[in-house]
Amino acid sequence: MKGTVLYGPRDIRFETRDDPKILESTDVIIKISAACVCGSDLWPYRGIQKVIEPTPMGHEYCGVVEEVGSAVKTVKPGQFVIGSFFASDNTCPHCQFGYHSSCQHATFVGDAQAEYLRVPLADGTLVATPEIPPEDLIPSLLTTSDVFGTGWFAADAANVKPGNTVVVVGDGAVGLSGILSAKQMGAGRIIAMSRNPSRQELAREFGATDIVTARGDDGVARIKELTGGIGADSVLECVGTQESMMQAIRSTRPGGFVGYVGVPHGVELKGEELFYAHVHLHGGPAPVRRYLPDLINLVLRGEINPGKVFDLVLPLNQVAEGYRAMDERRAIKALLKP
Ligand SMILES: [Zn+2]
Ligand SMILES: [Zn+2]
Repeated sequence: MKGTVLYGPRDIRFETRDDPKILESTDVIIKISAACVCGSDLWPYRGIQKVIEPTPMGHEYCGVVEEVGSAVKTVKPGQFVIGSFFASDNTCPHCQFGYHSSCQHATFVGDAQAEYLRVPLADGTLVATPEIPPEDLIPSLLTTSDVFGTGWFAADAANVKPGNTVVVVGDGAVGLSGILSAKQMGAGRIIAMSRNPSRQELAREFGATDIVTARGDDGVARIKELTGGIGADSVLECVGTQESMMQAIRSTRPGGFVGYVGVPHGVELKGEELFYAHVHLHGGPAPVRRYLPDLINLVLRGEINPGKVFDLVLPLNQVAEGYRAMDERRAIKALLKP
């Protein structure tokens, strides 16, 4: 088969690789229907996260089951399935509490920008749709695998409730997904922080009521102005830099919640400022598997269309262009079709 490998900064290759095989009796092999490039793939692509050896890429996936291991009970060949970027058993204490991405047997699924993919712990990891979905729903179903599930977790971790005032820091695909999630959860006011006109437009379409273009301390001042000097009830941090994290914490009212899902790079928090900020912090790699059945149903019922975050569709063999377009911020998110 062919798949995507990152060799070093900005060196993405689509090349012939070994076909994945069943290694454990709990594995399945799926034929990828659609994959995509994640904002987090850009950290190693840009060289900010070191690449020590050629690394297969891609962790957002959906597809049709080709082959199942002898112990697999819940999915069958021919079914359309979606899974999270962390394989999980769905049975250990952490999974029972809903933190599948901290599963005692969690394994990263990192080889999905390819024609075929091995998924470990298939019974716990994969959710099958009742039938093969129509082609036009595949982009939205794919988003439940990570980007939309992560936006949903950000909103859930930030305790978004009906009527809340919500701020979303970050206008990438996760931030935009967070806006759609907050809207779906009944937020009263959703303030998106974005400087990019096309992203602002999608933010509004997804439910943003206000746009703030200022960043850092100026951005915080603007949020305070918009909230009568109080700050927001819920703030979603969807970037992962020092500036964005501080912007999130300082935009939150005392007693409010920050849901943070941007993978932190060089973020350091000062104990004293946190102490006096009086905010709840909850974040981490999204336990997407917890939300998958509900989010898949919302998509299948046509209630939401999170697939609109894909503004670039490419054949899988042009994956390198997908990375370039996202790196240069020409595209919000690239969908890849084998
Ligand atoms: Zn991702
Ligand atoms: Zn588990």
